[in-house]
Amino acid sequence: MSERAAPSAQELAERIDQVRRRIAAAGGEGRVQLLPITKGFGPGAVALAVEAGFDEVGESYAQELLGKAPSLADAVRWHFVGRLQRNKVRALAPLVAVWQSVDRAALVDEIARRAPGARVLLQVDATGEPQKGGCPPAEVPGLLALARAAGLDVGGLMAVGPAGPPEGARRAFRMVSTLADELGLVERSMGMTGDLEVAVEEGSTMVRIGTALFGPRGPRP
Ligand SMILES: *Cc1c(COP(=O)(O)O)cnc(C)c1O
Repeated sequence: MSERAAPSAQELAERIDQVRRRIAAAGGEGRVQLLPITKGFGPGAVALAVEAGFDEVGESYAQELLGKAPSLADAVRWHFVGRLQRNKVRALAPLVAVWQSVDRAALVDEIARRAPGARVLLQVDATGEPQKGGCPPAEVPGLLALARAAGLDVGGLMAVGPAGPPEGARRAFRMVSTLADELGLVERSMGMTGDLEVAVEEGSTMVRIGTALFGPRGPRP
């Protein structure tokens, strides 16, 4: 993993302001949580986010989270937002507060076993791109029933928009919001650096932002 240098505290403060302004301009002030995503950056970036007032931070890769979390003690409630392998759940369970990318029954079972009662979001495949993870929309009601039966605390849905121009994500985000409404689920974790406005306009309650806060990441090895 090539790890980038974190921005200065001053730079981060300015970028947080910019992102909050973008959220407000899209109509999300007071409704949308800003979740910083620190993947590709070291524990220093997480410490900066904590100093800037965040107590919830997201990571996409199990190895990265396992590497950073110990040095940050209990300062952070971690959200796991990336593609999740079942065999990583056990190691992550003591660290993760919110599992955002639960998209199949095997994960429901394993999380219920290793972290009983945990807070989860169900990831929806909103774009027909299985490599991004996510449960096909038609199967979400069944997965929700399974997760509840297993004792998990299902807060809502999560989705990753399609690559390409942000406007192309609108239909996907609208579909996820409609599905959440139908299922009576409150949380909709939608929107990243490139498409946060569209996500907020379509009902996001949480945007997951890496690049706009910490800068460009190095390539994955
Ligand atoms: C990396 C990542 C983000 C943040 O992406 P940016 O475009 O850098 O804001 C959000 N959600 C998930 C699932 C990610 O993997």
